[in-house]
Amino acid sequence: AKNAGRNTVRFYDPELHRAVEARFELESELRHALDQDAFSVHYQPQVDTSGAVIGAEILLRWKHASRGMISPAEFIPVAEQTGLIVPIGRKVLRAACEQLAAWKHQPAFRDLTLSVNVSARQFRHKYFVRDLAQTLEATGAPGHRLKLELTESMLLENVETVIAHIEELRSFGIEFSLDDFGTGYSSLAYLKRLPLAQLKIDQSFVRDVLDDPNDAAIAQMVVNLAHTLDLDVIAEGVENDQQRAFLFGLGCRHFQGYLYGHPDTLAELEALVLRQNDN
Ligand code: C2E
Ligand code: CA
Ligand code: CA
Ligand code: CA
Repeated sequence: AKNAGRNTVRFYDPELHRAVEARFELESELRHALDQDAFSVHYQPQVDTSGAVIGAEILLRWKHASRGMISPAEFIPVAEQTGLIVPIGRKVLRAACEQLAAWKHQPAFRDLTLSVNVSARQFRHKYFVRDLAQTLEATGAPGHRLKLELTESMLLENVETVIAHIEELRSFGIEFSLDDFGTGYSSLAYLKRLPLAQLKIDQSFVRDVLDDPNDAAIAQMVVNLAHTLDLDVIAEGVENDQQRAFLFGLGCRHFQGYLYGHPDTLAELEALVLRQNDN
């Protein structure tokens, strides 16, 4: 349907015209940003039941010269459509591996894991496995501290390729988490075939988990499914203690969200870990 849009611009529609122009502008700006190294990464803590930081999710940030910080929600879709997600994603993985390698020699940080978001187009790329293996090798990063977050939508096409890539990368110790689980098309049939380590309860279910029985039921289902399949489960978007307590009651043991920390610089993450170690 995405590609059909491009071929069906037959008459002049000012709104569509503007949208197409904005997309092309964003594309050329993304290319420029890649050349200029205008991307950086932020780290959001992930904690266990005691509140101790066990790792972080890496979230991409784009510092635009005139528009300031641009959210990945805005530019990732264009990066995916244009294929620019491949070189951009490579940089993010490189940053993660360099960080894991640096932490290897620092006792306070060496057990931390890093979770990296990977787009479907990036993950299916024929050189994805080769590139990541080279990056692990070049940086000396411990593969078992790296977690890749895949999304359900990735399973709509080429499931076999996805499974093959997961299996190859698992031989380096890399683990896999299914992000945004429950928001897309049901893929329960695939789920048992995927060698995952973790399911992530999407923030859209966490937001109203206290008030909306449907969201609570979905969160419970994800936890139960994870336990049945012997997977770890983490809730994202946890903003207050009531949500955390409710999710804990459902059996969730790992948490991420503003309650524990916003996505922030490496220095902030490390300071948080060090403060905890002092107590
Ligand atoms: P996501 O993977 O579902 O990431 C969670 C989003 O929720 C992040 O938005 C994060 O900042 C935000 N968040 C975290 N805690 C809370 C909370 O307590 N409350 C609320 N309301 N929001 C919270 P962000 O950083 O804007 O990223 C948006 C999306 O962009 C991500 O969603 C992910 O799909 C994508 N993305 C980010 N970095 C990358 C990347 O390096 N590669 C790829 N392919 N996609 C990325
Ligand atoms: Ca994610
Ligand atoms: Ca998510
Ligand atoms: Ca999301």
